[in-house]
Amino acid sequence: MAINRIQFQRGLSMAEFMGRYGREDQCEEALMTSRWPAGFACPRCGSVEHTTFRREGLLYFQCSGCRHQCSLIVGTIFESTKLALTQWFLAMHLLTQSKNNVSALELKRHLGVCYKTAWLLKHKLMEVMRLREDSRQLTGRSARSAPWWAASAAAPSPSSDTACICDWRPTRAPSRCWAWCSAAGCPPGLSCAGSSPGSSAGRCAA
Ligand SMILES: [Zn+2]
Repeated sequence: MAINRIQFQRGLSMAEFMGRYGREDQCEEALMTSRWPAGFACPRCGSVEHTTFRREGLLYFQCSGCRHQCSLIVGTIFESTKLALTQWFLAMHLLTQSKNNVSALELKRHLGVCYKTAWLLKHKLMEVMRLREDSRQLTGRSARSAPWWAASAAAPSPSSDTACICDWRPTRAPSRCWAWCSAAGCPPGLSCAGSSPGSSAGRCAA
């Protein structure tokens, strides 16, 4: 049987992840590069001249021009956190590498935090991912396990199995999209538009 290249695409192994982001200084470096790819620039005056210091373990920058101080995490999802960046990064890795979702309870065990913290952390990260993805429209051909959505030019992927195609299609996918239904029936919001060649499944359309 041919290998599904999507399913077998290379991911970041836990060993590789720990090698790259297993220490606090590695996470700080990654965050700095992400926030200021060309190096720190004062958010108030734009000056790049600065000094750094630590307060309660947190990395701060002080602008040499206007003396403005800001921490590495201010203005990010990590602001006001008491967790180490390594815990945040590990949570991001676990949530994004898992195909079948990660429960807050599982996250709690992996991170060594209480359930409430794990729940809040998970939902903060999911909200950030949702906001990031909201502005993107899917292109090309994509598929998901159940139901499987496809299109001649583009294929949308609903946010959940029960999502109605009518709800997300106007913003997330072009109008020319359709889906295959299975024995379980058509996805919500669609009705059968005929059988597909060589398949017992029906082709659905909005
Ligand atoms: Zn400044």
